[in-house]
Amino acid sequence: MTGSERVSGPENGTTMTAIHTACPYCGVGCGVVSKPDGTIAGDSTHPANRGRLCSKGAALGATLDEAGRLLKPTIGDSQRPGMTHWG
Ligand code: SF4
Repeated sequence: MTGSERVSGPENGTTMTAIHTACPYCGVGCGVVSKPDGTIAGDSTHPANRGRLCSKGAALGATLDEAGRLLKPTIGDSQRPGMTHWG
């Protein structure tokens, strides 16, 4: 239930990719579709949720640009925060 599909873009004749993936917030793993316009919606083809999302899943799109979102792993504590890298 993951993958991508070509969808209509914002201008005539253009196509962009919508990504089918899973919500990361709990073990249910509901299917979500990330659309090129920046919106995230429930995946209507996914058997676990059939397009529906709970309140946490429905907030996925709003969290992407949230100030303070960690984009890199951190090592340290509240007295000595530090950023590191994945590799
Ligand atoms: S949408 Fe809700 S129920 Fe589904 S995986 Fe995300 S947190 Fe879990």
